[in-house]
Amino acid sequence: MRLRHKPWAKEKLEQHPQYVVAEPENLKGKWHEAFEKDQPLHIEVGTGKGQFVTGMAKANPDINYIGIELYDSVIVAALDRLIEADLPNLKLLNVNAAELDKYFTKNDVDRIYLNFSDPWPKTRHEKRRLTYKDFLKLYENILVDGGEIHFKTDNQGLFEYSLMSFSAYGLLLKYVSLDFHKSGYEGNIMTEYEQKFSERGQRIYRCEVKYQN
Ligand code: SAM
Repeated sequence: MRLRHKPWAKEKLEQHPQYVVAEPENLKGKWHEAFEKDQPLHIEVGTGKGQFVTGMAKANPDINYIGIELYDSVIVAALDRLIEADLPNLKLLNVNAAELDKYFTKNDVDRIYLNFSDPWPKTRHEKRRLTYKDFLKLYENILVDGGEIHFKTDNQGLFEYSLMSFSAYGLLLKYVSLDFHKSGYEGNIMTEYEQKFSERGQRIYRCEVKYQN
């Protein structure tokens, strides 16, 4: 993700507390209070400019969604989409996913989406990959028992690494596609990266994995 410094971004996020949760630690264990309806909660980690999570929230009004993004200069674009769509079942969080357990506790989250996560190809950066075992532990600590991770990427190396990481952790591989856009899957909502890479003819990999607790 190319980052452009936007000195006004933080202030804009603060001006929309109905969409961007200001003190997420206060909602730990009671996220339903942030939404109009008490219904399952799905989160996207590394939501970028929010095309996927906004599309999902529009398509599935019976599910609550949170888009989580580290950079204010990026999530501000997701905020613009949300202001436009004015969805009651979507919130945004401008936090680091490495600290998810500060904001969520066991059973808060029903499903986690990881889309086109940064690949961090160098071995010395393995710990930064969002499918590294420490992140899988973090996700387990906030998901319901039997919770799922749905993962899409264009990066074959990251996909192979992630399948091995999921498997070594003891996650059940429920669905694996090595060419997702040719798989006949219906109802896919594309992310920005997915749209860009598939328009260039690149193959998209996707899997669904489940915790066996
Ligand atoms: N999911 C979007 C898509 O598919 O178009 C964006 C993909 S982009 C390659 C990865 C995004 O994940 C970036 O916006 C990055 O800032 C965010 N990200 C990476 N590590 C993160 C972390 N630890 N916590 C929150 N967001 C993170």
